[in-house]
Amino acid sequence: MGVTIDKVVEIYVADEKIQQRLSGRRVCEVCGNSYHVDFKPTKVEGVCDGCGGKTVIRKDDEPATVLDRLKTYHEKTAPLKDYYAKQGKLVTVEGQEEVSETSKLTLKAIEG
Ligand SMILES: [Zn+2]
Repeated sequence: MGVTIDKVVEIYVADEKIQQRLSGRRVCEVCGNSYHVDFKPTKVEGVCDGCGGKTVIRKDDEPATVLDRLKTYHEKTAPLKDYYAKQGKLVTVEGQEEVSETSKLTLKAIEG
């Protein structure tokens, strides 16, 4: 599309970790607040801290769907890494628990 790609950033998280993160995610069906059973639990299990609504597992985060999404990633998207690595454009950042930490590392990788 007439855009030159200088760098490609891969944010790497092991599959098992992705499964753990996604399968523990809960979303309030009323206000949309998101939680995690391990990292950001609600005060009362299954009940949104913000509005008292019920927290649920999104279809996207169900274990079978997560496995399917990972499979698709490894088949369709991951091969692109080799393509860009061969051109010296691929940088890999280790995905952290905290989004802000991953953002910092990503900015560093782009500048460096
Ligand atoms: Zn809520």
